[in-house]
Amino acid sequence: MAGEPQTDCLFCKIVSGDIPATIVRESDTTVAFRDINPQAPTHVLVIPKVHYPDAASLAAAEPQIAADVLHEAGAVAADEKVDSTGYRIILNTGSGAGQTVFHAHAHVLGGRGLQWPPG
Ligand code: C5P
Repeated sequence: MAGEPQTDCLFCKIVSGDIPATIVRESDTTVAFRDINPQAPTHVLVIPKVHYPDAASLAAAEPQIAADVLHEAGAVAADEKVDSTGYRIILNTGSGAGQTVFHAHAHVLGGRGLQWPPG
């Protein structure tokens, strides 16, 4: 059923606590944790607790939770004090764009210069 935990999903297992993560924020609908392979001094992932394969499908089914993810991404940036210098919220969508985990997630990257366009 849409939104239900998936037994083979890494990020559902982080939500349930079956796989450890360094959690920096949690809300009723989201969890934010440090990326295991950081690409910047601040690299935090914000995920919905419900399972949808990517951000677009989350937004289509649960627009309020998609908004919660963006709100929490902004809160992470403020917590990490990268909001004043600039940061990036990235929603990789599809394997061709580098998505490797098919549970919606927003990367929050900051703490270094960020090039445009991204690679
Ligand atoms: O956008 P993409 O799907 O590539 O992002 C998945 C991210 O999840 C990667 O940056 C990877 O380092 C991270 N990851 C993690 N903890 C895990 C497995 C993957 O932070 N246990």
